[in-house]
Amino acid sequence: MSDYKLGLDYAQQQDALDELSSYRQQFHIPKDKDGNELIYLCGNSLGLQPKSTKDYINQELEDWANLGVEGHTHAKNPWLPYHEFLTEATAKLVGAKPIEVVTMNSLTANLHFMMASFYQPTKDRYKIVIESDAFPSDKYAVESQLRHHGYDDKEGLILWKPRANEELLHYEDLEQILQTHGHEIALIMIGGVNYYTGQFFDLKRITALGHHYGCKVGFDCAHGAGNVQLDLHDSGADFAIWCTYKYLNSGPGSLSGCFVHERHAYSKDLNRLTGWWSHNKDTRFNMRHEFDVLPGAEGWQLSNPPILSMAAIKASLDLFNEVGMERLTAKSRQLTSYFEFLLKQLGENVIRIITPSNPEERGCQLSIQVLNADRALHHKLTEAGVISDWREPDVIRCAPVPLYNSFEDVYRMVEKLKEILNNN
Ligand SMILES: *Cc1c(COP(=O)(O)O)cnc(C)c1O
Repeated sequence: MSDYKLGLDYAQQQDALDELSSYRQQFHIPKDKDGNELIYLCGNSLGLQPKSTKDYINQELEDWANLGVEGHTHAKNPWLPYHEFLTEATAKLVGAKPIEVVTMNSLTANLHFMMASFYQPTKDRYKIVIESDAFPSDKYAVESQLRHHGYDDKEGLILWKPRANEELLHYEDLEQILQTHGHEIALIMIGGVNYYTGQFFDLKRITALGHHYGCKVGFDCAHGAGNVQLDLHDSGADFAIWCTYKYLNSGPGSLSGCFVHERHAYSKDLNRLTGWWSHNKDTRFNMRHEFDVLPGAEGWQLSNPPILSMAAIKASLDLFNEVGMERLTAKSRQLTSYFEFLLKQLGENVIRIITPSNPEERGCQLSIQVLNADRALHHKLTEAGVISDWREPDVIRCAPVPLYNSFEDVYRMVEKLKEILNNN
């Protein structure tokens, strides 16, 4: 921490030393009306567009124009197995085996499909644990699963809460919940990186704890995938899901990734919701066969997928694959710690960072509380060309993304914030 220095010169020096700095040129950086690049710190909400994406999508548009239905087998990248072109890079990205991952559907839909298999309540064991400040869609989804199975969505839901006047969660409190209620809990479903605080949980520890008490364990890694090293296989989690439009830069509303641990790969008796895309590829088009489920995560697919969206995912994964999460995380830690260092110069009585200060317990996002701030501050930041994200009641989330953000971006953001605070 103390190695960092103040001043624009220093930021520019760090960019010159950064071996990943050239990747910024591979992205479209949004500009203001005068053509100046905005300071985009919102990759945790919608990642920027790689310049290569257009070509990847155009390839599929051309093949569709030229080949029609024949594109399923004769396109340059045939559409029938298109999702397989994403498997290896996805597995590497989240630390999984190829058989454990698939790209399909959207995120909340996948959460439901995973719960169809991994939330199997019984009279005595039907409760679900989530974080108290889970992403609303996840909370709505688990509540609706409780109701779907005939349980009360308040009584059946156990919240893992922060202690009074704190935001971050303590593992001891989850252990306490399990000690008291473990025998009643069917599923623990936690955001791998909390969207609000940026706290990156120890997935392995939570999984071991849940499994010890006989619960299934799943993670929503929407804020983890492409941001932190997830090691999903080693975590032992039963399932995980994530979206590809945040850190994975695959475009608004793009498809979701899904992980099912290898230990479930060949289990034919797991309850699941199925469609023709979960069926054995060799006999799928016989159209009459008895259902024969595919092994691994692929066996949870339902539909033939949207190729245009998958092409955008492929464009992005090719970049991630080239860089690798190791180099990306190394830069991320530098960039975010530098950001933290600069913010602290504004005075710890004015700025409070609720994200963990330990780099092992966070990704690139910092969630910042500014003394007495309201939405107007966020508005002023936006006017000043800083794209960040406001969460009620008083948190600004900023994510310097190592693939396309620079040390200079971070420096300029803090300068703008300082200016706004001084003029208040
Ligand atoms: C972004 C996000 C969502 C959004 O869900 P969609 O189904 O993609 O609209 C859900 N959960 C979490 C944790 C998220 O971060």
